Amino acid sequence: MAVIMDGESLARALKKDIATNVSALKKKGITPALATILIGERPASKTYVRLKERDCQEVGIRSKTYELPAQASEQEILELIDTLNKDEEIHGILVQLPLPPSVSGTKVVEQILPEKDVDGLHSFNMGKLWLGTYDFDNDLLPCTPKGIVKLLDHYKIELAGKDAVIINRSNLVGKPLSKLFLDRDATVTMCHSKTKNLKEFTKKADILVTAVGRRPAFIVTEDMVKEGAVVVDVGISYVGEKVCGDIDFEKIEKKATYVTPCPGGVGPMTRVILLYNVLNAAKGRVK
Ligand code: NAP
Repeated sequence: MAVIMDGESLARALKKDIATNVSALKKKGITPALATILIGERPASKTYVRLKERDCQEVGIRSKTYELPAQASEQEILELIDTLNKDEEIHGILVQLPLPPSVSGTKVVEQILPEKDVDGLHSFNMGKLWLGTYDFDNDLLPCTPKGIVKLLDHYKIELAGKDAVIINRSNLVGKPLSKLFLDRDATVTMCHSKTKNLKEFTKKADILVTAVGRRPAFIVTEDMVKEGAVVVDVGISYVGEKVCGDIDFEKIEKKATYVTPCPGGVGPMTRVILLYNVLNAAKGRVK
């Protein structure tokens, strides 16, 4: 049976470290603060924002959510970001995705000052990642990829020389993760909806990461996984009321050496890295 990579308990432990660092910063007169912009009424987005607010509260980070109606114009959003960019008391700005179709995600992300870009999606922060000039611990890296690497590190899973296959090529997950894996000397293959014979790739993976989120149309079945593989399940689907990942967990758990559960695997790690990013953004203000 595979070892279950427990993101929930690792995140809990990391939060203690964050809380200690936040207290130390407060003694220097800086209270780390996150501003979140939530546009529209999407229930899943509201839930994520609530969870992030609770996380901030737990570790002593100040958080404020700005709710805009679904019809908010791009200009209104950009102006709010400008105001928050200028606010010295705000260290991190997060715009909850997805955005309404009428709003350009690129424009919104690029409007955030790179030093306040706690999602790590601004071209400046992405550029550092791709050039390899980033500092893994202190720079603003995308939360989910960094969370995955921290989880693998915690379980002492070596990436060097391994065949890693990532089913996803988004800016949020697949692309930044591929670079972090590459920097740890894995041989990385990226798959997506146009990949032919997906199983031919996944079956060769020592490390398989899947981030599709389209159950039941897409599922990673046991026969797609190599014996002894490490399987990281990022995808989130709602089947009725139930949240589930991309993989057939019960069967793959018997074949893999390490596997993440969903919920309780990558999700809590993503959220804890957001807290680290806010902390690091606030540390940047220490004179
Ligand atoms: P996205 O932009 O929609 O990416 C989905 C990826 O899956 C795309 O690269 C897409 O390929 C690929 N795909 C779709 N159908 C496929 C198929 N049949 N075979 C192979 N690949 C297929 O979404 P995202 O923002 O990256 O998020 C992906 C999933 O991860 C979602 O379920 C999201 O909720 C979840 N997520 C979870 C966390 C967490 O913390 N747990 C964080 C971030 C995201 P194309 O590029 O060709 O369209």
